[in-house]
Amino acid sequence: MDILSKLEILADAAKYDASCASSGTEARNSLKSGGIGSTDPGMGICHSYTPDGRCISLLKILLTNFCLYECAYCVNRTSSNVPRARFTVDEVATLTMEFYKRNYIEGLFLSSGIFKNADYTMEQVVAVARKLRLEHRFNGYIHLKTIPEASPELLAEAGLYADRLSINVELPTEKSLNRLAPEKNARSITRSMARLGSGIEEYKESKKHARKQGNKKLVAPKFSPSGQSTQMIIGADDSNDSAVLRKANQLYQSFKMKRVYYSAFSPIPDSSSQLPLQAPPLVREHRLYQADWLLRFYGFGIDELTETANTNKTTGMLSLDLDPKLAWAINHREQFPIDLNKADYERVLRVPGIGVINARRLISQRKVRAIRYQDLSKLRLPLEKIKYFVQTIDYRPDSVRLESANFARLFVNNTDQQMSLF
Ligand code: SF4
Repeated sequence: MDILSKLEILADAAKYDASCASSGTEARNSLKSGGIGSTDPGMGICHSYTPDGRCISLLKILLTNFCLYECAYCVNRTSSNVPRARFTVDEVATLTMEFYKRNYIEGLFLSSGIFKNADYTMEQVVAVARKLRLEHRFNGYIHLKTIPEASPELLAEAGLYADRLSINVELPTEKSLNRLAPEKNARSITRSMARLGSGIEEYKESKKHARKQGNKKLVAPKFSPSGQSTQMIIGADDSNDSAVLRKANQLYQSFKMKRVYYSAFSPIPDSSSQLPLQAPPLVREHRLYQADWLLRFYGFGIDELTETANTNKTTGMLSLDLDPKLAWAINHREQFPIDLNKADYERVLRVPGIGVINARRLISQRKVRAIRYQDLSKLRLPLEKIKYFVQTIDYRPDSVRLESANFARLFVNNTDQQMSLF
């Protein structure tokens, strides 16, 4: 099979993996170190977005889509009737360099089906990264998908060459993992995540120590400087949003994940009868990302975000109609309007439409003078939306409107408004 035919198959096979954003990467600068490529902020990666919204490009491929495993949700599972291909190490390295030189890509995202065994596969994946870094002196971004059952030595070597490593947790519960991915083992996954986590921490600590001592030589060799990430498939099992978010929370806390990616299950050709026939609504994936952000940076709790309107009871599911912050605010109208001249930072953050940066700005501005309604438009806050939830020295919303039973309808089916509210 020629290399382009392989590329067609192996790029298509990789498209289901969502965990490839390059945000938060650390610079490997060609100007300083020689070689080719750079991961300086501003350069980027494939079909992925940086935190400031720039689209960046990666060569996102599998080394092979042959796989010994039978994960029910995966198009590459052993029983799947799809064309198969396998790259050699040299082919992937050459493709990456050729695409990079033509400015098609800014990095590589490499994953693989498991062929022969976990160690053999991981060796091949590591060999690609080693070749790129040591032989081609490639300084662009490399994200390697690691195989949890591979030996610790191989994981350690992968960390030396990759900017980011990831291991997919796949499903929110061990029960679902056993049912849908019988060869995978939740314990191996957590054990390997813990190994990556401690390698990443050691590297970070060595940097801090070296900075304190003013001696760069004390920095340990780079180990996955952009941290580790993981992906969870949504809607392939019956786990509710609460279970998904709890699992994500545990991963953030235990292994200091940079990101947990949520990937809505998409029905695949010849799919297993264990899977639902339909994909979950894509908006569910979007709501999970919003809730993930609220849990990490806004001080919300999982139960608060999944409670049913007007009952304060948790359903375990996020609202699909409303973004989670707005849904919470509507459900807790008794806590509004929030006085922007008196409320503490945590309360200001609860206002739909006010994010972390503007909450900080408001708190520092009011130390100088009282906040007036027109100050909100100077901060470019979405007045049409936040006017129901805030109070300033010269403004208070209409309480009748706020208490109206139809209040939520103002926002339902208004995606633009909800996005900016968030
Ligand atoms: S291990 Fe499972 S998820 Fe990974 S490629 Fe093989 S079948 Fe797909």
